[in-house]
Amino acid sequence: MKKPIKETLLWMFFTKHCLYCNKVVDRKSDVCEDCRENLPIIKDEKCKYCGVEKIRCNCKNHRKGYDGISAPFYYEKNIRESIRLLKFNGKDFIANQLSDDMAESVKSDFKDIVFDMICFVPFSKGNKLTRKYNPSELLAKHLSKKLEIPLKPTLTKLYENENQRNLSMMERIGNVFGVFDVVEDADIKDKTILLVDDVKTTGATLSNCAWILKIRGAKNVYCATVAITPPKKDKK
Ligand SMILES: [Zn+2]
Ligand SMILES: [Zn+2]
Repeated sequence: MKKPIKETLLWMFFTKHCLYCNKVVDRKSDVCEDCRENLPIIKDEKCKYCGVEKIRCNCKNHRKGYDGISAPFYYEKNIRESIRLLKFNGKDFIANQLSDDMAESVKSDFKDIVFDMICFVPFSKGNKLTRKYNPSELLAKHLSKKLEIPLKPTLTKLYENENQRNLSMMERIGNVFGVFDVVEDADIKDKTILLVDDVKTTGATLSNCAWILKIRGAKNVYCATVAITPPKKDKK
């Protein structure tokens, strides 16, 4: 049975939704019980190269194109759902919430670093036609306001590559090689840059973006993502 109009309007304006998964929550809380209990937080101490807790890190300090990465969460449990909402539902309140957590993570992990600018992993022209917005750009916009660092769309994607999702680590590295470049009028010489993306899986995309930024003159590139895929060894 349909709800009466008055009830529907009341529901629309006065119900509160969980900041992470959009489930209706009690008026006194911002986060549902499930999310509060299950947020896959990456706790200190973190490995500065791969961003995960040192006890779970198996990167052996293997350096990528970037100088460090910071993320508040592992890409698992309810954060997977948050990122799905962010990517496909255009839920700006999710970007706002997730960027709050990213800002805290950046402030604590990179407390000694002064950033000159923020940029993000770009969409290709093909992506732009089929998707209304780039989630990495949305996160970067929020983060720029919260951290008071200017946002400069610096990178461009030269052509459409295969989705990284079903590729092996080596295939991913090849798949992103030469895909990105810096826009013509970008002023990045000797700059320290914070590069934003939604999720880090193998780091191949971020690494490639960081390399090209450095080839074009950037001094340092650090990355900020919402989440990092947990290291393989503890996957069941
Ligand atoms: Zn929730
Ligand atoms: Zn590590």
